Amino acid sequence: MTTYGIDLGTTYSCIAYVDETGRAVVAKNAVGEETTPSVVYFESGQSVVVGRAAKNSAMLNPDLVVELIKRQIGQGDARREFHGESHAPESISALILRELARNAEEDTGEPVKDVVITVPAYFGVLERDATRKAGQIAGLNVLDVLAEPVAAALHYEALTEDAGVRHLLVYDLGGGTFDTTVIRLDGGDVQVVCTDGDHHLGGADWDSKIIDYLLNGFTDQHSDLDPGGDEQFVQDLAISAEQLKKELSSTQSRRHNMRFDGSVVQLELTRDGLEELTSELLERTMEITERTIATARDKGVTRFDDVLLVGGMTRTPAVARTLKERFGLDARLHDPDLAVAKGAALFALVQRVKIGMDGEDGPGSGETAQDVADQLGISVEQVETMAAKRVATVVPRAFGLKVVDSKDPVFTTDPDRARELVAHLLTANTELPADTGPQTFYTVTDNQNSVRLEVWEQAGSVASDELAHNTHIGDGMLTDLPLRPAGAPFEVTFFMNPTGLLKVHGREAGSGREVRFEIQIGGLEEAEVREATSAVARYEVSG
Ligand code: AMP
Repeated sequence: MTTYGIDLGTTYSCIAYVDETGRAVVAKNAVGEETTPSVVYFESGQSVVVGRAAKNSAMLNPDLVVELIKRQIGQGDARREFHGESHAPESISALILRELARNAEEDTGEPVKDVVITVPAYFGVLERDATRKAGQIAGLNVLDVLAEPVAAALHYEALTEDAGVRHLLVYDLGGGTFDTTVIRLDGGDVQVVCTDGDHHLGGADWDSKIIDYLLNGFTDQHSDLDPGGDEQFVQDLAISAEQLKKELSSTQSRRHNMRFDGSVVQLELTRDGLEELTSELLERTMEITERTIATARDKGVTRFDDVLLVGGMTRTPAVARTLKERFGLDARLHDPDLAVAKGAALFALVQRVKIGMDGEDGPGSGETAQDVADQLGISVEQVETMAAKRVATVVPRAFGLKVVDSKDPVFTTDPDRARELVAHLLTANTELPADTGPQTFYTVTDNQNSVRLEVWEQAGSVASDELAHNTHIGDGMLTDLPLRPAGAPFEVTFFMNPTGLLKVHGREAGSGREVRFEIQIGGLEEAEVREATSAVARYEVSG
């Protein structure tokens, strides 16, 4: 049975599988392209169109078209309504996944079931879980969600000779997200050293700058007209802006004609002009890169054997040039549009092999290497190499508990009014599995007989103890504590397993009272997932 890797991108998506020769190949879509725009057009209550045709429909029916849904995945308040039916971002993503699966089925002639879906390395638990649910809603069996740079590194590794320990810096600038990740390759092992990023920074922001430039250029010449208020005109401009940007990666200058309300304006945009217009965006990626290099240095990695450019936006010449000027790095394009899906396809196969061999009762209880090899149509040696492969990642962001600030002057008189903050127990980039060991906290009031353990996750790109810079992701109660004066100690331990599941253990040593809980991720409940699954299944999806 074939397994698939899916790069569910902000602007473009792609599906790949490993063919009988052991090579990762991309399945083409209905119009023969390797990547499909992540755009969904709700044509009617029964049918949706995904991809290029949907993107083109945005001009005529902007209210029925959804773009950049990945930016909202995992946000419960981002539902959208079409033809009287409301959809969570997970369901809209599921429709994209269905179209990709359909394309792959046409390519391989086999139904698509087992998949690995990639996410930006910087995605938190909530977004990872929402991505997994999107797969479920699409009727797929999600073997795992994998960090995009790790997928790119797996693809790189498959193409290069084994050369001992190597360190890679992956600079991934996609349509909507940016990540930098340092990866250590050692034999078959892939280990993330550290990762950083901004998931609201990508090609779409470059496009917006160009749209503004063109609109301003138009109104400079016709101040009495307001083309910016015309949704159709702006949608049209968005397509042209992206096109202009891509063309300026290979040419120095382009002209663009705009017609609105009978008036025509022609504007020229040069590559230098574009770089100036968007310098602040590129600068943000460089700051994050600098931070990543510094974190890697703290962890003992001082040089990179290769710098991989992933994501379509890295075709902009300014990226490689600035990395060279700023950090002396020789970066090279590494199959920027397809590397992630291909690496995910390789990983999906590894996961299938492991699941087959591990069986229900842990390693060794499942099928033999020969059985798995026969089933997947690969050699026994390949199965054994894959089963031995280790892919290890890091805690993507800091996690902590909400506590009351004992340093706040109000604390001594009125602790309920003291400042609340997040005390991080797990810091970003700790290797997984991660165990904090017992950390001591104290009760706040006299005779406090219970403590709510509120777990918060770092929200921005830099850890901060301000509540507003963190997201509340779950809680548990430590109850029936012995009645003691304020300041009685209790212990809390955080444990994160290799797939990012966070387990929390609270304990009061004197009484032995304890609480254990796994973070029940917010987002869609099981019943909602089931409901969304049947709602999505009812649609006829086409490209
Ligand atoms: P991805 O999410 O990796 O598919 O990245 C897609 C982004 O890369 C979109 O914003 C595209 O507009 C952009 N892109 C694709 N090709 C080019 C190019 N030749 N020059 C500049 N940007 C590009």
